[in-house]
Amino acid sequence: MLPFIRSDLAQFTAYKPHPSSDTDAAVPVQLDRLDTNESPYDLPLELKQKLAWTFQQVIESNRYPDGGHQELKGAIAEYVNESANLPSSSFTAANISVGNGSDELIRSLLIATCLGDEGSILVANPTFSMYGILAQTLGIPVVTVSRNPENFTIDLTAAQSAIEQTQNPPIRVVFVVHPNSPTANPLTANELRWLKSLSDQILVVIDEAYFEFSQTTLVSELTQRPNWVILRTFSKAFRLAAMRVGYCVAHPEAIAILEKVRLPYNLPSFSIASALVALQNRDILLESIPQTLDERTKLIHAFSQHPALAVAESAANFIFLRLKLDSDNSSDTTLLNLHQQLKNSGTLVRQISGGLRITIGTPEENIRTLNHIQTALIKPELIG
Ligand SMILES: *Cc1c(COP(=O)(O)O)cnc(C)c1O
Repeated sequence: MLPFIRSDLAQFTAYKPHPSSDTDAAVPVQLDRLDTNESPYDLPLELKQKLAWTFQQVIESNRYPDGGHQELKGAIAEYVNESANLPSSSFTAANISVGNGSDELIRSLLIATCLGDEGSILVANPTFSMYGILAQTLGIPVVTVSRNPENFTIDLTAAQSAIEQTQNPPIRVVFVVHPNSPTANPLTANELRWLKSLSDQILVVIDEAYFEFSQTTLVSELTQRPNWVILRTFSKAFRLAAMRVGYCVAHPEAIAILEKVRLPYNLPSFSIASALVALQNRDILLESIPQTLDERTKLIHAFSQHPALAVAESAANFIFLRLKLDSDNSSDTTLLNLHQQLKNSGTLVRQISGGLRITIGTPEENIRTLNHIQTALIKPELIG
């Protein structure tokens, strides 16, 4: 360990990107990348051409980007209002902050609330790992509670006692995903009631990364709740994972704080231009959503017919699949085998929290997913 590095960082490992850039000779060249919940569809060519033209004719690469993001924030606010069927004046640019991916916004929220021993965060596992990872890199304690193993609802009794009992530092932020990753379930009425019951000393972060697939949003709650913020991203339904653009919708005072802690030119000009083009053409880009939802229904139906599989309902563009096993079988090894066999056959999925998180891909990819899983499950080492 380098002598000038914070001692608590020694135990961390760097985030392993998916798909990993490690080469694995056994993996076929043609891969179905269903491990990161992106859209299977690239931007349409005409939009790429438009962006290429913007790069050639509009963006001055020697100049810093628009560091105030006013135009983008205005366009996002308009979309946010539309997405919640709110009047067009409800949210404005003053309610929006943009980040280099929502990951940046998560880090900014942590810096603004908990840094310097001021607060801990609460998460209900399994959930999106970045909340905990980013908190730990900042030396912020992470309090975890569990979920019901059948329907993945949060253990609210444990969550409430964590809030009451955690001291030095107290819980300052609760992170939830709506719908959750990797388990794909939306917040329940009970969970919402609990979130609403929290004191205004606690920031509630609702991550709606999969809003376009769930079509349920809590943005209209923000008008009465200055301690709530909503995160969204262009990395999923808007097909811009490569551009790293996320946004936060919140009360203008909370936005002002986020603006204080962010880096001055956090979004490259090309990313800003891409997000604007995506918003202007949202009707075209979001046209593929119904097909994804249809495909999801088909996959869930097919998996639920298989005696060895347990599949949960999903409100997102991925499904969470688990194995039903005899008690004398080690499910971890079996899952690992299944994951590896899928990889060998060219289907990349995420092995996580005792299951497989599988992104809904194109219809062709989904047929292969199904075939590869069915084939793998016939092999004797899997069924034991
Ligand atoms: C994919 C995802 C994001 C998006 O992160 P970006 O940094 O915007 O790419 C945020 N939250 C959750 C829960 C996600 O699954």
